[in-house]
Amino acid sequence: MNIKETNYWLETVREPAHGTSEPLPEKVDVVVAGAGFCGLSAARSLARRGARVAVFEAEALGWGASSRNGGMVLTGMKLAVPTLISRYGRELVQRMYAASLESIDLVEQIAKEEAIDCAFSRCGHLEVACKQSHFDAYAASAARIQSEFSHPLRIVSRSELSEEIGSSIYFGGMVDETSAGLNPAQFVAGLARAAERAGARLYERTAVQDVKSLLAAGQRSFRVRTSRGIVLAKEVLLATGAYTSEATPALRRKVIPIGSYIITTEPLREDLARELSPRNRMIYDSKHFLHYYRLTPDNRMLFGGRAAFFPESERTVRESAELLRQGMVRVYPQLGDTRVEYVWGGTLDFTFDVMPHSGTLGGMHYALGFAGHGVAAATWMGVKLAGVLSGDSDDNPFSKIPFPAAPLGLRSGNSWALPLAGLYYRLLDYFT
Ligand SMILES: Cc1cc2nc3c(=O)[nH]c(=O)nc-3n(C[C@H](O)[C@H](O)[C@H](O)COP(=O)(O)OP(=O)(O)OC[C@H]3O[C@@H](n4cnc5c(N)ncnc54)[C@H](O)[C@@H]3O)c2cc1C
Repeated sequence: MNIKETNYWLETVREPAHGTSEPLPEKVDVVVAGAGFCGLSAARSLARRGARVAVFEAEALGWGASSRNGGMVLTGMKLAVPTLISRYGRELVQRMYAASLESIDLVEQIAKEEAIDCAFSRCGHLEVACKQSHFDAYAASAARIQSEFSHPLRIVSRSELSEEIGSSIYFGGMVDETSAGLNPAQFVAGLARAAERAGARLYERTAVQDVKSLLAAGQRSFRVRTSRGIVLAKEVLLATGAYTSEATPALRRKVIPIGSYIITTEPLREDLARELSPRNRMIYDSKHFLHYYRLTPDNRMLFGGRAAFFPESERTVRESAELLRQGMVRVYPQLGDTRVEYVWGGTLDFTFDVMPHSGTLGGMHYALGFAGHGVAAATWMGVKLAGVLSGDSDDNPFSKIPFPAAPLGLRSGNSWALPLAGLYYRLLDYFT
């Protein structure tokens, strides 16, 4: 196989954003660490409200998960609604669910307002059941989501499924028309340009190395040491996602970096593309180790999965190409002779309770834990953090919940324990 080991989406970016080559400022109001959806969305909102903002990105703008993902802009959260309600109570979960819907509107609004040509489309998502028991659970799940949040989902029986997907391996499906799709690399590049237009200064290849809290005349500020020099800031916002490093050790201990991989095929004939995905949905299956897939705007099949309890490496990316191709052909035997053109990997930001979180640590603000929902949730969280930093009252339901550290000494970055967690989820897929 002659496959490019590179992110397909990046090759579609027409106007990459590179930030400024100006020297670092001495002082700013807010330093943002990390230039993904979260950091850039926060920087855009803060700058629009008059703050002097410097965004420091260790690599290129949008280099992290934000340019590498499936581009699925999804409703809801990772955990099932009954689990959420038993943990956090009905009122808070209703606000969380409302936030998930609002976050999709926000992505659409930003794309429109900033004229970001990212192929945003309200195509809906389809979850497909890998087992009869999974399908049997859909009706109760849809009824609960309707009664708790007045949000409609449509159950698709096995006999009707060909209207949604050109695969016969599933036991049925569930459609949510509110979800959307976009080109994530175009969106994050557009967000960077929008933040710059609003007045934020973006610095690529500038890693935050450590942050010291200073107290003078009762006023707290921060001394931020970067790979290019020192900057003083009134506030610091950590938007470093799964790539959070030892520069902020307290936050690093709370993140589980999980690798995920994607392939894309060569462009498909229009009739084949329509056969595979008649309604152009964002599709994922019902397993814990799930596959997620969609057509790209130029009709390639983008197929992702192979979650791994360690960050991606050159070796795991290479191995993923054939494993994902086999997974894709199991779903779509029609693609048996189709060439895979690209493979890449990225790291997802999971937390130990599988929830997004925002709050403060050592006086610094942070938001992460978006897992497979970060396109919408990280963009929304950036705006919420900007609001809090600008003096708005904090109405963010995700800042109200406890943020657990690793249980039983299972620490983020401690690779001996994470594969055990992986094994646990594989067993769950086998038995449930
Ligand atoms: C393969 C894959 C598929 C996915 N699919 C989907 C999907 O279809 N839908 C969905 O909603 N979500 C999906 N996700 C998740 C989603 O992409 C993320 O949740 C989201 O992009 C997180 O955005 P972020 O801004 O918090 O972090 P990131 O985009 O990861 O940005 C963090 C940035 O911080 C930088 N950084 C880290 N430390 C420092 C430092 N010390 N100094 C300076 N910079 C630093 C990193 O270089 C990085 O660029 C997927 C993720 C992956 C990896």
